[in-house]
Amino acid sequence: MSNHFLDTKIEFLKGVGPKRAEMLRKELGIATFGQLLVYYPFRYIDKSKVLSISDINSEEIHIQLIGKIVELKTLGERRGKRLVAILKDETGEIELVWFKGIKWLASSIVIGKEYVAYGKPSRYNNRYNIAHPDLDEVDQSLIANKVTLEAVYPTTEILSRMGLTAKGIHKIQQNLIVQLGNKIQETLPISIIEQLKLIDKERAVVNVHAPENEHLLQKARYRLKFEELFYLQMHLLRQKVIKKDTIKGAVFNRVGDCFNQFYNEKLPFELTGAQKKVLKEIRDDVGYGKHMNRLLQGDVGSGKTIVALMSILIAIDNGYQACLMAPTEILANQHYEGITELLKGLGLNVQLLTGSVKVKKRREIHEQLENGELDILIGTHALIEDKVKFQKLGFVVIDEQHRFGVQQRSKLWRKGSPDSKTGKIVPPHVLVMTATPIPRTLAMTFYGDLDVSVIDELPPGRKEIKTIHRFDSSRLKIFGFMEEEIKKGRQVYIVYPLIKESEKMDYKDLMDGYESIERRFSKPTYQISIVHGQMKAVDKEFEMQRFVKGETQIMVATTVIEVGVNVPNASVMIIESAERFGLSQLHQLRGRVGRGGEQSFCILMTGNKLSADGRLRMDTMVKTNDGFELSEVDLKLRGPGDLQGTQQSGLLNLNIADLVSDAQIVQYARDIALQILEEDTNLVLDKNHRLVSTLKQLLGNKINWSRIS
Ligand code: ADP
Ligand code: MG
Repeated sequence: MSNHFLDTKIEFLKGVGPKRAEMLRKELGIATFGQLLVYYPFRYIDKSKVLSISDINSEEIHIQLIGKIVELKTLGERRGKRLVAILKDETGEIELVWFKGIKWLASSIVIGKEYVAYGKPSRYNNRYNIAHPDLDEVDQSLIANKVTLEAVYPTTEILSRMGLTAKGIHKIQQNLIVQLGNKIQETLPISIIEQLKLIDKERAVVNVHAPENEHLLQKARYRLKFEELFYLQMHLLRQKVIKKDTIKGAVFNRVGDCFNQFYNEKLPFELTGAQKKVLKEIRDDVGYGKHMNRLLQGDVGSGKTIVALMSILIAIDNGYQACLMAPTEILANQHYEGITELLKGLGLNVQLLTGSVKVKKRREIHEQLENGELDILIGTHALIEDKVKFQKLGFVVIDEQHRFGVQQRSKLWRKGSPDSKTGKIVPPHVLVMTATPIPRTLAMTFYGDLDVSVIDELPPGRKEIKTIHRFDSSRLKIFGFMEEEIKKGRQVYIVYPLIKESEKMDYKDLMDGYESIERRFSKPTYQISIVHGQMKAVDKEFEMQRFVKGETQIMVATTVIEVGVNVPNASVMIIESAERFGLSQLHQLRGRVGRGGEQSFCILMTGNKLSADGRLRMDTMVKTNDGFELSEVDLKLRGPGDLQGTQQSGLLNLNIADLVSDAQIVQYARDIALQILEEDTNLVLDKNHRLVSTLKQLLGNKINWSRIS
């Protein structure tokens, strides 16, 4: 479905021409009419509200004034140089100030003429002024047409210099809008439009750029947001369907001795309801030749490991090998030890492969993998090296996946073995586990083609961790508290931030901290471990083990201990310079305690001065233990681009919708896309014809949409 109007080159639009067209393309990627129309305003000026100058009483909001410019002067020099205009109405005067674009403004503003000024006032020396207001001549035509909402567009400095300021872009948009009228075809199926009572496409486009009124503007924005999110979800879900149809997984259709013996004789506790539920979801996937690609979310301490292990046992019962990959050596070690212990007596061959495994041992492991003697391989990213070849890999567990890139994941995929009949590689089933919960709407999008399981229940008997925020000035009291806990037989973590750019300084902080703790605690009785990133792996391991075994009472560390480490006797987590951590990291750290039956504490230490953002993070931590709630706040603070370093925000290509503030619409869009696919999986029905052609067109334009996980 091509559309000549929308494909028209932008230089042919009134007010553009070749030079501006070139810049629009370079700066904003706008080359056609259609692309200009999806360049949406970021806010609207309400032209119906005009404030009297004497009524200005707040710095908070944007205001609109109408008055005459009665004075215009350039003041200061160099960096302090500025243009000051005095705007006067019947009630008073106010200064308008510009630091940029002075020359051009000075020559274009006419003294004595009436202007509309729009901006955010600030108070200085007991008087209000407005810096860099939008200044326009009072436009009689707008007033006559009773247009009250005016679109404001983002722009760039280079475009502004060519006259394409926010205003300038508004002008060319309007030149385009007046040409509309049966030029833009509907892009959503009628059934959806009726079901959601959406306004039609062209009306939405007109109203988003030139709103007739507030009501229609809202309807227009809703319609356009819905459309974006709907097609994104549609695409993601289709991908998933296609994958399911074309990729078959190994069939694990029996539960055998390993699983049963483990379940009946070894499992040290009753599984929680949530663990059982997830185990069933996994078994449903792997039992019937589906290829499983599943994300398992569960808060720290919710017991994901045992679920993974029991799934692995099913793979073994069906004649396959399995591996578990962890992000750090310490964690891989811990998994290895825990799992070997749990599987004792089952006669399984479990091995550990990390960077520090000696060459000889390594060779032995490679051999056993290839001849099938090895059942379960646990390790770090050393597992994905090409040299590591399995005889029959059927199940892969990736723990704390946010440390792994997409590419690393797909490398494991390729370690599957060829099907005996077709010769095609059968990829292993993949279970990705994370304790950093992702808000649902984001999971739907980032992991749109993964299935998601959630463990939303902690094992019984856990006491909620008490979280406290203290300023550095109360350190002595905190030391006292630590000592009380240690006397009760507990252990304590003290964690320091380690951020790359200032590694040296962080190291010094850590060492200073270590020394002061040593002065306070080492004589006469207590032992202290220290672990940081600059230590050799063996030394780290040694120190870590001392703490795990209870030989040391205090563990001073950087965030290397962040992920997964399990010391149930540790009951206090002290986080130094807590304001320097993000919420999900703080939550991860907090999850290192509260693993035994004792009351645990997390103490957030900060300086007295906190940014608003830092304060919000501390308050949120104190207020809630719920990882999902935290992730929502985190997302609002940092935006989805930062989310677990996925750096995939560019891939979403959303022009008007926002995954955070439009979460509700994401949900609707997904539900409706699902409904449609349930009824017409391959989108062959007539009524879905429009949908298919729109989708094709979008995919043509945005190749980015094509692969997500
Ligand atoms: P995470 O989900 O953070 O990886 P783990 O799998 O390390 O959590 O489990 C945390 C602790 O809880 C472990 O010591 C584990 O043995 C224990 N655990 C797991 N499931 C249960 C259960 N159903 N009942 C009691 N304890 C459990
Ligand atoms: Mg874990």
